[in-house]
Amino acid sequence: MGVTAIESIPEIVAGLRHSFNLGVTRPIEWRKQQLSRLRTMLVDHSADFEAALHSDLGKSGTEAQFTEIALLVAEIDYALEHVDRWVKPRRVGVPLALQPAAAKVIAEPLGVVLVIAPWNYPLMLSLSPLIGAIAAGNAAIVKPSELAPATATLLSRLLAEALDRRAFTTVEGGVEETTALLRERFDHIFYTGNGRVGRIVAHAAAEHLTPVTLELGGKSPAYVDESVPLAEVAKRIAWGKFLNAGQTCVAPDYVMGTASTLRRLKVLLAEAIHDLYGSAIDRNPDYGRIVNATQFDRLVSYLGDGEVVSGGVFDKPSRYFAPTVLAQVDRESRVMQDEIFGPILPLIEVSGLDDALSFVNANDHPLAAYVFSDDAAVRRRWEQETSSGALNFGAPMIHLSAPEIPFGGVGASGIGAYHGEHSFRVFSHDKPVLSKPLKPDTLASTIMPPYTSVKDSL
Ligand code: NAD
Repeated sequence: MGVTAIESIPEIVAGLRHSFNLGVTRPIEWRKQQLSRLRTMLVDHSADFEAALHSDLGKSGTEAQFTEIALLVAEIDYALEHVDRWVKPRRVGVPLALQPAAAKVIAEPLGVVLVIAPWNYPLMLSLSPLIGAIAAGNAAIVKPSELAPATATLLSRLLAEALDRRAFTTVEGGVEETTALLRERFDHIFYTGNGRVGRIVAHAAAEHLTPVTLELGGKSPAYVDESVPLAEVAKRIAWGKFLNAGQTCVAPDYVMGTASTLRRLKVLLAEAIHDLYGSAIDRNPDYGRIVNATQFDRLVSYLGDGEVVSGGVFDKPSRYFAPTVLAQVDRESRVMQDEIFGPILPLIEVSGLDDALSFVNANDHPLAAYVFSDDAAVRRRWEQETSSGALNFGAPMIHLSAPEIPFGGVGASGIGAYHGEHSFRVFSHDKPVLSKPLKPDTLASTIMPPYTSVKDSL
């Protein structure tokens, strides 16, 4: 991976700011052209991106398409289709007391923005925020994760070829380079990653009063009762958990159910894993790999926290870690303190719904909560008594591919939300523009001194 020279960073930011100030990024046609060029880059280099994602994460081509490449193409198409509407000034009313007057709200670009991406969906999470930044008319720096080096290098080269270099740049590197970037003043910082670094980003942003979007993680629970067909539930949970070898921010982190539900579910989960990946999972190209040795060792250390009922095997040289289900897990154990972010699924026994709700509410607000129940009262209680970035009934994770659904966390799982029009709004300032004629002089007769008794009676 190439690394950007730290001393060049202030100059890079200044160059982008100069372009922004010249108005390079403002014309709608230019924004659309940049989005189309980004689309062409993804389509023309689809195979290269698949290869890079395979090299970084052992991702299958199909998975790379539907969780990253094709998802981005769809997001660009959506932005291209709607951006004309998003940029339209919105007329708003003014109260009678201020009339005659007219007011509108115009979405103006923020300026120069920074996108910092993690390694788990290294392409999608670098470009998805960028789509919003382009549509809204900003200049941007993308900082891909150094922990997915093949994708970072490819992206850096191809973005430089595809996009207008006056307005967009990739900075490659790790902590040092990101720290240098964070010393600069941006007009928005969009960070995706863990909460520890999220706090570092928020601190640095505060120095310049820069607004932030923080897309963080957490332990997203799944709750299952017996009002639903458990075989289907098991299959959906297994799919959500073991996609990208569990390295997904909105993967179900653990499953809660009563002892009898879990007794049935653990058998069905083992069957679901077999249905999805067969019996020689280590040779199945559909199953991914753990990103690096540090993450791998962390995952191995959780295996002692419960009884392995499925999987539990691993091979460090190839970073293969089997889809694993753990039973008899203590709620205080480490696997239940950390965000697992890997293919280990603890089953947590609860006495019933109240116990599940109070367990979830005793912890940080998760990025997502997944409830499998056809009981309307159960659903209502999850809706009304818990807080999470999103709440899904019946299926994990699919909410992130719906552009009208705001995607983001709450509390410890993040600040702000994006996707579709929400991304455009993240990178825009809603500027109200009010105009009032000087004649007739209605202000003098109402709100300016001298305050006569007539005015007092208003
Ligand atoms: P990571 O280690 O790749 O870090 C993310 C980015 O932060 C990288 O670009 C990295 O260079 C930078 N960084 C790391 N340390 C830094 C420091 N000290 N100072 C400044 N910058 C620094 O990725 P990660 O954080 O391990 O990603 C996994 C986490 O991200 C999980 O918690 C996951 O849930 C979360 N996540 C959230 C979403 C979401 O959309 N909400 C999506 C994916 C991942």
